[in-house]
Amino acid sequence: MGAATISTYHFPTKIRFGVGARRELLGALAALGIQRPLVVTDQDVAQLPWFSEIEASLGQLAWETFSGVWGNPVVSQVEAGLVAYSAHDADGIVAIGGGAPVDVAKAIALMAYHPGHLFDYEDGASTRPIDQNIPSIVAIPTTAGTGSEVGRSAVISDDTTHTKKIVFDPQLLPKVVLADPELLLGLPAKITAATGMDALTHLIEAFLAKGHHPLCDGIALEGIYLVSQHLQPSVLFAQRLAAGELLSETEKTAHLEARAGMLNAAMMGAIAFQKGLGVTHSCAHALSTVCNMHHGLANAVMLPAAMRFNVEAEPDKFLRMARVVDPAASSGVVLIDWIVALCKAIGIPPSLTAAGVSADSIEQLVNVAIQDACHPFNPKPVTQKDFYVIYQDALAA
Ligand SMILES: [Zn+2]
Repeated sequence: MGAATISTYHFPTKIRFGVGARRELLGALAALGIQRPLVVTDQDVAQLPWFSEIEASLGQLAWETFSGVWGNPVVSQVEAGLVAYSAHDADGIVAIGGGAPVDVAKAIALMAYHPGHLFDYEDGASTRPIDQNIPSIVAIPTTAGTGSEVGRSAVISDDTTHTKKIVFDPQLLPKVVLADPELLLGLPAKITAATGMDALTHLIEAFLAKGHHPLCDGIALEGIYLVSQHLQPSVLFAQRLAAGELLSETEKTAHLEARAGMLNAAMMGAIAFQKGLGVTHSCAHALSTVCNMHHGLANAVMLPAAMRFNVEAEPDKFLRMARVVDPAASSGVVLIDWIVALCKAIGIPPSLTAAGVSADSIEQLVNVAIQDACHPFNPKPVTQKDFYVIYQDALAA
Protein backbone atom coordinates (compact mmCIF):
# COMPACT_ATOMS: atom_id res chain seq x y z
CA MET A 1 0.00 0.00 0.00
CA GLY A 2 1.14 3.55 -0.52
CA ALA A 3 3.25 3.37 -3.67
CA ALA A 4 0.25 3.07 -5.96
CA THR A 5 -0.65 6.71 -5.40
CA ILE A 6 1.63 9.75 -5.22
CA SER A 7 1.97 11.19 -1.68
CA THR A 8 3.25 14.61 -0.59
CA TYR A 9 6.07 14.86 1.98
CA HIS A 10 6.60 18.46 3.04
CA PHE A 11 8.80 19.65 5.97
CA PRO A 12 9.70 23.23 5.15
CA THR A 13 10.01 25.17 8.42
CA LYS A 14 13.39 26.50 9.50
CA ILE A 15 13.54 25.89 13.26
CA ARG A 16 16.29 27.29 15.46
CA PHE A 17 16.05 25.24 18.65
CA GLY A 18 17.80 25.75 21.99
CA VAL A 19 18.38 27.99 24.98
CA GLY A 20 18.79 31.59 23.80
CA ALA A 21 17.26 31.01 20.33
CA ARG A 22 14.95 33.96 21.06
CA ARG A 23 17.97 36.28 20.86
CA GLU A 24 18.25 35.58 17.13
CA LEU A 25 15.06 37.50 16.36
CA LEU A 26 16.69 40.64 14.97
CA GLY A 27 18.84 38.58 12.60
CA ALA A 28 15.87 36.48 11.50
CA LEU A 29 13.86 39.62 10.67
CA ALA A 30 16.80 41.14 8.78
CA ALA A 31 17.18 37.96 6.71
CA LEU A 32 13.51 38.24 5.73
CA GLY A 33 13.80 41.96 4.96
CA ILE A 34 11.30 42.90 7.68
CA GLN A 35 11.85 46.43 9.00
CA ARG A 36 8.51 47.32 10.58
CA PRO A 37 7.32 44.21 12.43
CA LEU A 38 4.06 43.98 14.34
CA VAL A 39 4.67 41.84 17.45
CA VAL A 40 1.49 39.81 18.16
CA THR A 41 1.16 38.29 21.62
CA ASP A 42 -1.39 37.64 24.33
CA GLN A 43 -2.04 39.91 27.25
CA ASP A 44 -0.40 37.56 29.80
CA VAL A 45 2.78 36.94 27.81
CA ALA A 46 3.15 40.72 27.34
CA GLN A 47 3.54 41.04 31.15
CA LEU A 48 6.40 38.53 31.45
CA PRO A 49 9.89 39.91 32.20
CA TRP A 50 11.56 38.31 29.19
CA PHE A 51 8.98 39.85 26.84
CA SER A 52 10.31 43.38 27.21
CA GLU A 53 13.79 41.93 26.73
CA ILE A 54 12.72 40.58 23.34
CA GLU A 55 11.16 43.93 22.44
CA ALA A 56 14.36 45.70 23.44
CA SER A 57 16.37 43.30 21.28
CA LEU A 58 14.60 44.74 18.23
CA GLY A 59 16.74 47.85 18.76
CA GLN A 60 16.60 50.30 15.86
CA LEU A 61 13.67 48.64 14.11
CA ALA A 62 10.32 50.45 14.07
CA TRP A 63 8.25 47.78 15.84
CA GLU A 64 4.82 47.93 17.40
CA THR A 65 3.22 45.44 19.81
CA PHE A 66 -0.37 44.17 19.64
CA SER A 67 -1.24 42.24 22.81
CA GLY A 68 -5.02 42.00 22.39
CA VAL A 69 -5.18 38.19 22.37
CA TRP A 70 -6.57 36.10 25.23
CA GLY A 71 -8.36 32.76 25.69
CA ASN A 72 -9.57 31.02 22.53
CA PRO A 73 -8.77 33.32 19.58
CA VAL A 74 -11.83 35.02 18.07
CA VAL A 75 -12.52 37.12 14.99
CA SER A 76 -12.70 40.45 16.87
CA GLN A 77 -9.12 39.93 18.07
CA VAL A 78 -8.00 39.40 14.48
CA GLU A 79 -9.84 42.56 13.42
CA ALA A 80 -8.22 44.61 16.21
CA GLY A 81 -4.82 43.21 15.23
CA LEU A 82 -5.45 44.10 11.61
CA VAL A 83 -6.16 47.71 12.61
CA ALA A 84 -2.84 47.73 14.52
CA TYR A 85 -1.04 46.19 11.52
CA SER A 86 -2.35 48.86 9.14
CA ALA A 87 -1.86 51.76 11.58
CA HIS A 88 1.79 50.74 11.99
CA ASP A 89 2.18 50.20 8.24
CA ALA A 90 3.84 46.90 9.21
CA ASP A 91 5.72 44.68 6.78
CA GLY A 92 5.79 41.43 8.76
CA ILE A 93 4.72 39.77 12.00
CA VAL A 94 6.47 38.34 15.04
CA ALA A 95 4.13 35.92 16.85
CA ILE A 96 5.08 35.27 20.47
CA GLY A 97 3.08 32.93 22.70
CA GLY A 98 1.00 29.76 22.62
CA GLY A 99 -1.33 28.64 19.86
CA ALA A 100 -3.70 31.59 20.22
CA PRO A 101 -1.36 34.48 19.32
CA VAL A 102 0.28 32.40 16.60
CA ASP A 103 -3.13 31.68 15.04
CA VAL A 104 -4.22 35.32 15.37
CA ALA A 105 -0.92 36.38 13.75
CA LYS A 106 -1.60 34.05 10.80
CA ALA A 107 -5.13 35.42 10.40
CA ILE A 108 -3.84 39.02 10.50
CA ALA A 109 -1.24 38.10 7.86
CA LEU A 110 -3.94 36.58 5.67
CA MET A 111 -6.25 39.59 5.98
CA ALA A 112 -3.50 42.21 5.52
CA TYR A 113 -4.02 42.16 1.72
CA HIS A 114 -7.24 40.17 1.33
CA PRO A 115 -10.64 41.93 1.32
CA GLY A 116 -13.83 40.93 3.12
CA HIS A 117 -14.37 38.84 6.26
CA LEU A 118 -11.91 36.27 7.63
CA PHE A 119 -14.49 33.49 7.27
CA ASP A 120 -14.80 34.24 3.54
CA TYR A 121 -11.54 32.28 3.39
CA GLU A 122 -12.65 29.27 5.44
CA ASP A 123 -10.78 26.14 4.39
CA GLY A 124 -12.99 23.97 2.20
CA ALA A 125 -15.82 26.53 2.14
CA SER A 126 -14.13 29.69 0.90
CA THR A 127 -16.09 32.22 -1.12
CA ARG A 128 -13.02 34.26 -2.04
CA PRO A 129 -9.62 33.12 -3.38
CA ILE A 130 -6.37 33.45 -1.40
CA ASP A 131 -4.38 35.09 -4.19
CA GLN A 132 -2.74 38.16 -2.67
CA ASN A 133 0.53 38.69 -0.82
CA ILE A 134 0.72 37.26 2.74
CA PRO A 135 3.32 38.95 5.00
CA SER A 136 6.02 36.76 6.57
CA ILE A 137 5.73 35.51 10.16
CA VAL A 138 8.50 34.68 12.64
CA ALA A 139 7.17 32.60 15.55
CA ILE A 140 8.49 32.25 19.09
CA PRO A 141 6.45 29.54 20.91
CA THR A 142 5.97 29.80 24.67
CA THR A 143 3.90 26.64 25.21
CA ALA A 144 4.39 23.03 24.12
CA GLY A 145 0.99 22.06 22.76
CA THR A 146 -0.64 23.06 19.49
CA GLY A 147 2.60 23.35 17.56
CA SER A 148 0.85 26.01 15.48
CA GLU A 149 4.29 27.56 14.88
CA VAL A 150 5.04 24.76 12.40
CA GLY A 151 1.52 24.58 10.92
CA ARG A 152 -0.10 26.05 7.83
CA SER A 153 -3.52 26.76 9.33
CA ALA A 154 -5.16 28.99 11.91
CA VAL A 155 -8.21 28.12 13.99
CA ILE A 156 -10.34 31.16 14.86
CA SER A 157 -13.76 31.13 16.56
CA ASP A 158 -16.83 33.23 15.92
CA ASP A 159 -17.22 35.70 18.82
CA THR A 160 -20.83 34.80 19.58
CA THR A 161 -21.44 31.22 18.40
CA HIS A 162 -17.92 29.97 19.43
CA THR A 163 -17.91 27.96 16.19
CA LYS A 164 -14.32 27.24 15.21
CA LYS A 165 -13.33 27.84 11.62
CA ILE A 166 -10.06 26.95 9.93
CA VAL A 167 -8.17 29.06 7.41
CA PHE A 168 -5.39 27.31 5.56
CA ASP A 169 -2.66 28.38 3.17
CA PRO A 170 0.97 27.25 2.81
CA GLN A 171 2.00 30.93 3.05
CA LEU A 172 0.65 31.07 6.62
CA LEU A 173 3.49 28.82 7.74
CA PRO A 174 5.98 30.90 9.78
CA LYS A 175 9.21 31.37 7.82
CA VAL A 176 11.37 30.87 10.92
CA VAL A 177 10.63 29.42 14.36
CA LEU A 178 12.83 30.41 17.29
CA ALA A 179 12.16 27.58 19.76
CA ASP A 180 13.68 28.49 23.11
CA PRO A 181 12.83 26.08 25.97
CA GLU A 182 13.80 28.69 28.57
CA LEU A 183 10.58 30.56 27.74
CA LEU A 184 8.55 27.61 29.04
CA LEU A 185 10.10 27.44 32.51
CA GLY A 186 7.39 29.59 34.10
CA LEU A 187 4.40 27.82 32.55
CA PRO A 188 1.82 26.84 35.22
CA ALA A 189 1.25 23.12 35.89
CA LYS A 190 -2.32 23.03 34.59
CA ILE A 191 -1.44 24.65 31.27
CA THR A 192 1.65 22.44 30.97
CA ALA A 193 -0.52 19.34 31.49
CA ALA A 194 -3.35 20.35 29.14
CA THR A 195 -1.14 21.61 26.31
CA GLY A 196 1.14 18.58 26.68
CA MET A 197 -1.85 16.26 26.30
CA ASP A 198 -2.86 18.17 23.17
CA ALA A 199 0.59 17.42 21.75
CA LEU A 200 0.28 13.74 22.71
CA THR A 201 -3.16 13.56 21.07
CA HIS A 202 -1.73 15.04 17.85
CA LEU A 203 1.04 12.44 17.84
CA ILE A 204 -1.24 9.45 18.49
CA GLU A 205 -3.99 10.56 16.10
CA ALA A 206 -1.49 11.40 13.36
CA PHE A 207 0.12 7.96 13.69
CA LEU A 208 -3.31 6.30 13.44
CA ALA A 209 -4.67 8.59 10.70
CA LYS A 210 -5.51 7.13 7.32
CA GLY A 211 -3.11 7.84 4.51
CA HIS A 212 0.42 6.95 3.51
CA HIS A 213 3.06 9.02 5.28
CA PRO A 214 5.90 6.98 6.78
CA LEU A 215 7.90 10.16 7.49
CA CYS A 216 5.11 11.53 9.68
CA ASP A 217 4.66 8.10 11.28
CA GLY A 218 8.32 8.05 12.33
CA ILE A 219 8.10 11.57 13.73
CA ALA A 220 4.92 10.64 15.62
CA LEU A 221 6.48 7.61 17.31
CA GLU A 222 9.55 9.56 18.47
CA GLY A 223 7.26 12.36 19.66
CA ILE A 224 5.26 9.89 21.77
CA TYR A 225 8.55 8.72 23.28
CA LEU A 226 9.50 12.31 24.15
CA VAL A 227 6.11 12.87 25.83
CA SER A 228 6.56 9.66 27.83
CA GLN A 229 9.88 10.99 29.11
CA HIS A 230 9.16 14.68 29.60
CA LEU A 231 5.51 15.57 30.24
CA GLN A 232 5.20 14.31 33.80
CA PRO A 233 8.51 15.88 34.94
CA SER A 234 7.50 19.21 33.32
CA VAL A 235 4.24 19.23 35.30
CA LEU A 236 5.88 18.14 38.56
CA PHE A 237 8.54 20.86 38.36
CA ALA A 238 5.81 23.43 37.63
CA GLN A 239 3.87 22.26 40.71
CA ARG A 240 6.96 22.48 42.92
CA LEU A 241 7.78 26.00 41.68
CA ALA A 242 4.18 27.08 42.29
CA ALA A 243 4.48 25.77 45.86
CA GLY A 244 7.45 28.09 46.36
CA GLU A 245 10.12 25.38 46.35
CA LEU A 246 13.62 26.23 45.24
CA LEU A 247 15.19 23.86 42.73
CA SER A 248 18.82 22.70 42.97
CA GLU A 249 21.10 23.35 40.00
CA THR A 250 20.72 19.71 38.92
CA GLU A 251 16.94 19.99 39.13
CA LYS A 252 16.96 23.24 37.15
CA THR A 253 18.85 21.45 34.40
CA ALA A 254 16.37 18.54 34.53
CA HIS A 255 13.47 21.00 34.33
CA LEU A 256 14.96 22.67 31.25
CA GLU A 257 15.53 19.24 29.65
CA ALA A 258 11.90 18.30 30.30
CA ARG A 259 10.64 21.56 28.79
CA ALA A 260 12.94 21.13 25.78
CA GLY A 261 11.64 17.58 25.26
CA MET A 262 8.04 18.76 25.30
CA LEU A 263 8.77 21.74 23.02
CA ASN A 264 10.17 19.30 20.44
CA ALA A 265 7.31 16.84 20.96
CA ALA A 266 4.72 19.57 20.35
CA MET A 267 6.34 20.67 17.09
CA MET A 268 6.64 17.02 16.03
CA GLY A 269 2.94 16.53 16.74
CA ALA A 270 1.94 19.45 14.53
CA ILE A 271 4.35 18.34 11.77
CA ALA A 272 2.96 14.79 11.94
CA PHE A 273 -0.68 15.81 11.83
CA GLN A 274 -0.40 17.18 8.31
CA LYS A 275 -1.34 13.50 7.76
CA GLY A 276 -4.65 14.04 9.57
CA LEU A 277 -6.15 13.77 13.06
CA GLY A 278 -9.11 11.72 14.25
CA VAL A 279 -12.10 11.16 16.47
CA THR A 280 -10.53 12.58 19.66
CA HIS A 281 -10.16 16.00 18.07
CA SER A 282 -13.73 15.97 16.76
CA CYS A 283 -14.97 15.22 20.30
CA ALA A 284 -12.68 17.91 21.73
CA HIS A 285 -13.69 20.59 19.20
CA ALA A 286 -17.33 20.03 20.19
CA LEU A 287 -16.44 20.35 23.89
CA SER A 288 -14.80 23.73 23.18
CA THR A 289 -17.78 24.92 21.14
CA VAL A 290 -20.54 23.67 23.46
CA CYS A 291 -18.89 23.82 26.91
CA ASN A 292 -16.08 26.33 26.24
CA MET A 293 -13.56 23.75 27.46
CA HIS A 294 -9.80 24.28 26.94
CA HIS A 295 -8.73 22.43 23.78
CA GLY A 296 -5.91 20.46 25.39
CA LEU A 297 -7.98 19.53 28.43
CA ALA A 298 -10.81 18.37 26.18
CA ASN A 299 -8.44 16.12 24.23
CA ALA A 300 -6.96 14.75 27.45
CA VAL A 301 -10.35 13.83 28.91
CA MET A 302 -11.53 12.25 25.63
CA LEU A 303 -8.36 10.43 24.60
CA PRO A 304 -8.79 7.16 26.61
CA ALA A 305 -12.42 6.65 25.49
CA ALA A 306 -11.58 7.54 21.89
CA MET A 307 -8.69 5.08 21.89
CA ARG A 308 -10.85 2.33 23.42
CA PHE A 309 -13.08 2.92 20.40
CA ASN A 310 -10.13 2.68 17.98
CA VAL A 311 -7.93 -0.03 19.46
CA GLU A 312 -9.47 -3.07 17.80
CA ALA A 313 -9.39 -1.46 14.37
CA GLU A 314 -5.61 -1.01 14.41
CA PRO A 315 -4.08 -3.64 16.72
CA ASP A 316 -0.62 -3.50 15.09
CA LYS A 317 -0.31 0.27 15.22
CA PHE A 318 -1.49 0.32 18.85
CA LEU A 319 1.10 -2.31 19.74
CA ARG A 320 3.85 -0.24 18.09
CA MET A 321 2.82 2.83 20.12
CA ALA A 322 2.51 0.73 23.30
CA ARG A 323 6.08 -0.51 22.81
CA VAL A 324 7.32 3.07 22.62
CA VAL A 325 6.08 3.74 26.16
CA ASP A 326 6.74 0.18 27.44
CA PRO A 327 9.14 -2.03 25.44
CA ALA A 328 7.71 -5.13 27.17
CA ALA A 329 4.14 -4.40 26.02
CA SER A 330 2.40 -7.37 24.42
CA SER A 331 -0.87 -5.60 23.54
CA GLY A 332 -2.01 -2.19 22.37
CA VAL A 333 -4.17 -1.85 25.46
CA VAL A 334 -0.94 -1.05 27.33
CA LEU A 335 -0.92 2.31 25.53
CA ILE A 336 -4.42 3.15 26.79
CA ASP A 337 -3.53 2.12 30.35
CA TRP A 338 -0.44 4.31 30.10
CA ILE A 339 -2.53 7.32 28.92
CA VAL A 340 -4.93 6.88 31.85
CA ALA A 341 -2.06 6.67 34.34
CA LEU A 342 -0.32 9.70 32.81
CA CYS A 343 -3.52 11.78 33.00
CA LYS A 344 -3.91 10.85 36.65
CA ALA A 345 -0.29 11.72 37.44
CA ILE A 346 -0.53 15.18 35.89
CA GLY A 347 -3.91 16.16 37.37
CA ILE A 348 -6.25 15.72 34.39
CA PRO A 349 -9.87 15.04 35.52
CA PRO A 350 -10.60 11.30 35.07
CA SER A 351 -13.96 11.78 33.30
CA LEU A 352 -16.15 14.31 31.56
CA THR A 353 -18.29 14.39 34.71
CA ALA A 354 -15.25 15.29 36.80
CA ALA A 355 -14.44 18.00 34.22
CA GLY A 356 -17.89 19.54 34.83
CA VAL A 357 -19.75 18.26 31.74
CA SER A 358 -23.26 16.92 32.39
CA ALA A 359 -25.03 14.10 30.54
CA ASP A 360 -27.55 16.69 29.28
CA SER A 361 -24.90 18.12 26.94
CA ILE A 362 -24.19 14.85 25.12
CA GLU A 363 -26.80 15.23 22.41
CA GLN A 364 -25.57 18.70 21.48
CA LEU A 365 -21.94 17.52 21.61
CA VAL A 366 -22.69 14.63 19.25
CA ASN A 367 -24.42 16.96 16.78
CA VAL A 368 -21.41 19.29 16.68
CA ALA A 369 -18.78 16.51 16.65
CA ILE A 370 -20.31 14.63 13.71
CA GLN A 371 -19.85 17.75 11.54
CA ASP A 372 -16.20 18.20 12.50
CA ALA A 373 -13.53 17.88 9.79
CA CYS A 374 -11.14 15.65 11.78
CA HIS A 375 -12.92 12.32 12.18
CA PRO A 376 -12.98 11.44 8.46
CA PHE A 377 -9.24 10.76 8.92
CA ASN A 378 -9.87 8.41 11.86
CA PRO A 379 -8.73 4.86 11.03
CA LYS A 380 -12.26 3.59 11.72
CA PRO A 381 -15.45 5.35 10.50
CA VAL A 382 -17.34 7.20 13.26
CA THR A 383 -21.15 7.27 13.16
CA GLN A 384 -23.52 9.43 15.20
CA LYS A 385 -24.19 6.40 17.41
CA ASP A 386 -20.44 5.87 17.88
CA PHE A 387 -20.06 9.46 19.11
CA TYR A 388 -22.77 8.76 21.72
CA VAL A 389 -20.95 5.66 22.87
CA ILE A 390 -17.58 7.47 23.10
CA TYR A 391 -19.01 10.45 25.03
CA GLN A 392 -20.93 8.13 27.38
CA ASP A 393 -17.72 6.17 28.00
CA ALA A 394 -15.80 9.40 28.77
CA LEU A 395 -18.62 10.67 30.98
CA ALA A 396 -18.41 7.77 33.37
CA ALA A 397 -14.78 6.72 32.98
ZN1 LIG B 1 -5.12 19.77 19.09
